[in-house]
Amino acid sequence: MTETPRAATLAKFASPVDRFHLELEPLKEAGTKVAGIYCVFAPLELVRAAGAVPVGLCGKKQGPIPDAERVLPANLCPLIKASYGYALMNSCPYWAASDFILGETTCDGKKKMFEVMARLKPLHMMRLPTDTSPEAQALWLAEMKRLADYLAAQTGIAITDEALRREIAMSNRIRTALLDLAAFAALPQPPISSLDMMGVFESRTFVLNQEGYLADLIALREELAALSAQGASPYKKGAPRILLTGSPIGRGSEKVLRLLEEAGAVVVALENCTGLKSVVGHVDEDGDPMQALARRYLSTPCSCMSPNTGRFTLIDELTRQFAPTGVIDMVWQACHTYSVESFDLGQHVTGDLKLPFLKIETDYTESDVEQLRTRIEAFLELQAK
Ligand code: SF4
Ligand code: SF4
Repeated sequence: MTETPRAATLAKFASPVDRFHLELEPLKEAGTKVAGIYCVFAPLELVRAAGAVPVGLCGKKQGPIPDAERVLPANLCPLIKASYGYALMNSCPYWAASDFILGETTCDGKKKMFEVMARLKPLHMMRLPTDTSPEAQALWLAEMKRLADYLAAQTGIAITDEALRREIAMSNRIRTALLDLAAFAALPQPPISSLDMMGVFESRTFVLNQEGYLADLIALREELAALSAQGASPYKKGAPRILLTGSPIGRGSEKVLRLLEEAGAVVVALENCTGLKSVVGHVDEDGDPMQALARRYLSTPCSCMSPNTGRFTLIDELTRQFAPTGVIDMVWQACHTYSVESFDLGQHVTGDLKLPFLKIETDYTESDVEQLRTRIEAFLELQAK
């Protein structure tokens, strides 16, 4: 990476926890409830239409894992252990602020962890189907309605179609703004680093003032357009371009993304659910809002779906848009769904897309950093121009 001007607007996305608490205080005083969420299957529009505010609680740091391992098996995905560890020790401010938790029956580890977590706070579990057939759609729609009843009981506010439509429209505008920002990575030399882009995407799970957040996203887009017009980019010409897919990452668990940056690569597309997977696909603003929400959320191409052909379709689309020179599939240790899917994905990437492919299995510790660095550098050498 080269030293270049960095967008000043990025400072607005730097410390979401301070901003969250500042904005939360008056809301809490007015009796607003906070819903803790762990997954992009949680329909944020429904939560907001019930007058509650959602906050992302996914654990992305190693710190809470030893505490979690007093209860959960060590051989479990670090994201699940970290999430539970924070809850057990009440050491995450977002957890502390949450009045209740929304869980989903996604992968086995997560749904069983939710059973244990339910002893710590009220927890509503959504029963997620594993495909998008008409029968599965009907089940998921019923789960949406069950969630709506739960939320109304928590907040005392019944969800109306009007409120739902308003929230859907706002969420779609935020999705568009995030996709516009992500599109800068399609340029030969993007004006923003992949780490900064990850931070911007991650910040969306801590938003209380959606209008203000949307305005910040638009201001960032304008600033990046100006930087790009001046030819500013933290990347060298011809840098390897990586599509990073697999398990979710964020601040604290960005090890592989950081190593790619340090090796001079651009992560042009972060396909995972903390990246593009969560914002592609708008919710239909016509017709029945509950059905539209159910349809859109069930189409999330996570590996807990079976089959999960949507992920391959999305990777094909992202390959066309962002022109990666290689694909890396990063899988958390003991994440069986992504790990099993990796073989077919590798065949698809090397066979159909004709791109080099690397699977990396790791955890939240730093113990394998040098070994990973060597593997990543060797992989990037294949693509050096
Ligand atoms: S990987 Fe799948 S189950 Fe895990 S948080 Fe993301 S969408 Fe949810
Ligand atoms: S990374 Fe894998 S094991 Fe961990 S919560 Fe997500 S799907 Fe489950």
